[in-house]
Amino acid sequence: MIPPIASRFVAGESPAAALDHVDDLNDQGVKAILNLLGEHYEERPPADEDAAAYEDLVRDISGSGLDACISVKPSQIGLDVGDDVFAENLADIAAVADEHGVFTWVDMEDHETTDATLDAFEDLTTEYEGGVGVCVQANLKRTEEDLERLADLPGKVRLVKGAYDEPRELAYKNKERVNEAYRTYLKFMFQEFDDGVAVGSHDPEMIALARDLHDEYGTDYEIQMLMGVRDDAQVELAAEDVEVWQYVPYGDKWFSYFYRRAMERKENMLFALRAVLGR
Ligand code: FAD
Repeated sequence: MIPPIASRFVAGESPAAALDHVDDLNDQGVKAILNLLGEHYEERPPADEDAAAYEDLVRDISGSGLDACISVKPSQIGLDVGDDVFAENLADIAAVADEHGVFTWVDMEDHETTDATLDAFEDLTTEYEGGVGVCVQANLKRTEEDLERLADLPGKVRLVKGAYDEPRELAYKNKERVNEAYRTYLKFMFQEFDDGVAVGSHDPEMIALARDLHDEYGTDYEIQMLMGVRDDAQVELAAEDVEVWQYVPYGDKWFSYFYRRAMERKENMLFALRAVLGR
């Protein structure tokens, strides 16, 4: 069982617990992106197992009538075993998701995975006419070129600042430089993307910029935030008719995810400490 301390960031261990959380979210006008926790499998069996779990989840989402989609990590479904294993598993998930009318997102991991992830995305989003989305990272210098390629494809793209510690020659390391890249890429996406823009950020400045760009260019957009981070803002934005999606992790591999969330900000760490101390 997930201790109450972690349940701010993780919806539960089972798909049923995650869907219960989605039900509450949908009642508040927020949609859900479900992520089964797991990454960096070096053998094929656990990768195949998680791919099958995503296919079951898609069937559960479809049967529940809830407003939810899925987001998959490449190394969770076989990228560390081989590009072909990842591509095969992602194709199987996307086929079942398409059959059930559920959208599939592909998360982006460190720079060594970018080419394989974008290639698999391109194949599938072309096949399913935009039923698949991919994440790109503003801290990577290559993203400017990747966005040019993505602008010609169907499917949604989520822009994030980037969560991985990348080498200096490949990535902006300075926070303000990453923010500048984020603003530039967001503007490009609102100008050039036909299938909408996904703003994967908690940053009030980037969210305000997205609203301004929407007013200027008319492009559809959605805000995506993590479970447990600015939850009130998510509900408030949804009440203002902004499309808001909450990224909802679940599963038994919750500890390292919870630890990362708790450590990344002082407020989160204090929250975790208070929960441990019971005050
Ligand atoms: P930051 O630059 O961290 O902070 C900017 C401002 O946002 C802060 O000053 C504050 O006002 C507000 N803020 C940020 N965090 C908090 C908080 N905890 N509490 C209160 N206010 C806060 N990264 C990847 O590399 N690959 C992925 O596939 C990926 N998918 C993601 C999916 C979603 C839905 C989201 C939201 C993020 C994802 N990320 C991913 C992580 C992302 O790259 C960033 O590391 C993360 O979102 C932090 O950047 P930020 O833009 O939210 O804000």
